Amino acid sequence: MNEPTVLQPGLLVVLSAPSGTGKTTLARHLLAEVPNALFSVSVTTRQPRGREQDGVDYHFVDVAAFQERIERGEFVEWAEVYGHFYGSPQSVVDEARARRGMAIFDIDVQGGLAIKRKHPDTVCIFVVPPSLEELERRLRERGTDAEDTIRRRMLAARSEIERGVSSYDYIIVNDNFDRAYGDLHSVVIAERCRQGRVDLSKLRLERSGS
Ligand code: ADP
Ligand code: 5GP
Repeated sequence: MNEPTVLQPGLLVVLSAPSGTGKTTLARHLLAEVPNALFSVSVTTRQPRGREQDGVDYHFVDVAAFQERIERGEFVEWAEVYGHFYGSPQSVVDEARARRGMAIFDIDVQGGLAIKRKHPDTVCIFVVPPSLEELERRLRERGTDAEDTIRRRMLAARSEIERGVSSYDYIIVNDNFDRAYGDLHSVVIAERCRQGRVDLSKLRLERSGS
C-alpha cells in the first residue's frame, strides 16, 4: 500500500471571474461562514472607487511603495492590470499555513495561476456569469464603473473566461446566487476532505512491525 500524501497545512483558495460576475459577493459570504478563514486584501496602486476603504477592499499605495514591497519579497504574486499594479501579500499564505486555516484570494486568472505555480496545492475556482448580457447588466446595476470602464471590462471578459475555464480546477456558474454559493461551499468542504489535508495524527497509524 502507498503511504498517504501529506499536503502543506491550510487551504489556499483562489476565486477568479470576469469583473461584475459576483466573485466578491461570493467570497464575502464564504468568509462569514467558514471558521478560520481569511480574505487576502490585495495591494494596489489604483485609486479607491466609490465606497472602497483602505485596508478593507485594498491596501492603496503609490507606485514607489509598491515597488519597495516587490523588492522586499512581500508578494506571493503581483501583476499589472489595466495600467495599475496589484499584488497579493505573501503574509496571507504564511498566516493560513500557520493557522491551518483557509485563505481566499479574489484575483484574476494570471494571479491565480502564479500562486498555483508557487503553491501547487492551491484550489483555483472560476466563476462565470450565466451570459455576457447578464454580466453587462450586473456591471451597470452595481453602479461603480464609468461607461468606458464597463466597455473595457466587457471586452476583457471573453478572454478571461476562455483562460479560466481551460485552466482552473472548478467552474461555478453564478446564475442563481444561493445555488452558486452552495456549489462554492461544497467545493471547499470537499477540498478539506482531500487526502493529505485531514489531520490523522491522533489515529496513530504506524504500521505494525515497522
Ligand atoms: P465581482 O467581484 O465579480 O466584480 P460583485 O461581487 O461586485 O462582482 O458583483 C457584481 C454585482 O452583481 C453586484 O451588484 C452583486 O450584488 C450582483 N450579483 C452577484 N451575484 C448575483 C446573482 N447571482 N444574480 C444577480 N446579481 C448578482
Ligand atoms: P479592480 O480594479 O476592478 O478591483 O480589479 C481589476 C482586476 O485586478 C480584477 O481582475 C481583479 O481580479 C484583479 N486583481 C485584484 N487584486 C489582484 C491581485 O492581488 N493580483 C492580481 N494578479 N490581480 C488582482
